[in-house]
Amino acid sequence: MEQTAQTIILRGKVIITGKLTLITGLHIGGAAAGLDIGGIDNPIIRHPVTREPYIPGSSLRGKMRSLLERHLGKEANTFIQRREPVVRVHQCVSPKEYAECAACQIFGLTPGDKERREWTTIKPARLLVRDVMLAKPEGPGAEDPNRALREAKTELPFTEVKWEAAIDRVTAAAVPRQNERVPAGAVFSPLELVYSLYDLDGTGSEQDIAWLKYVFKAMELLEDDYLGGYGSRGAGKVNFTDLEVTFKPRAYYEGTAEKELLGKAGNLRQLDPADYEGKIRQALSGGQGA
Ligand SMILES: [Zn+2]
Repeated sequence: MEQTAQTIILRGKVIITGKLTLITGLHIGGAAAGLDIGGIDNPIIRHPVTREPYIPGSSLRGKMRSLLERHLGKEANTFIQRREPVVRVHQCVSPKEYAECAACQIFGLTPGDKERREWTTIKPARLLVRDVMLAKPEGPGAEDPNRALREAKTELPFTEVKWEAAIDRVTAAAVPRQNERVPAGAVFSPLELVYSLYDLDGTGSEQDIAWLKYVFKAMELLEDDYLGGYGSRGAGKVNFTDLEVTFKPRAYYEGTAEKELLGKAGNLRQLDPADYEGKIRQALSGGQGA
């Protein structure tokens, strides 16, 4: 981002960890069929070394953003892709709108747009979402959360291949298509989302603290929507469990303060994000980072 004479100071980071479980099969598309994939039409994304399926952080983050934009009634006004399938996202068009837009603040504005170069209030995106790998046993002798999946004799490792018929609406001819999915019940872990609190030119982090609740909102919206493709045909329902929310103030990174557990719960509904704001403010005023 082209910005001059601006000071951005990190005030602290909120770390959200947990597990992601598939309630229905998941399809996140990978690169077009390579030789080792055996010619499947529609493969999923896999780790290049282990060949295990994983969830790219960008898929999770992108879906959270679009659900939050719709929740907040933000107009999808920017084309990412003009050819079919058309992809549009929301981007604020004025500094005034941006100042109040949780979606653009949390998920960021695309840099490089001429009209935004002059804006002096742009902060870095607050949220990053890491890739989530297929869960492994948590220690020697611990149970493998994906044992059934690892032992299953599936056509391709860790996945099922569904045959679906695409019906031509005019001629009624059926075209069989393959669609690869990670089966329901698969567990991905560790899930990790990092939300940073920034202070731009001494304006404080009060809004960043207040916007944190929208991260949890977006996760909740995702549980009642779908991740990846074929959601309208039943795929992509996920659940977040074993959640932990930790705050690391600036002073933690300087070695003069401890991290603080803000909340811990079996599922999203049991967390209380409203409660975190006060705890974060207190941690910031107590530490050297305040
Ligand atoms: Zn916006």
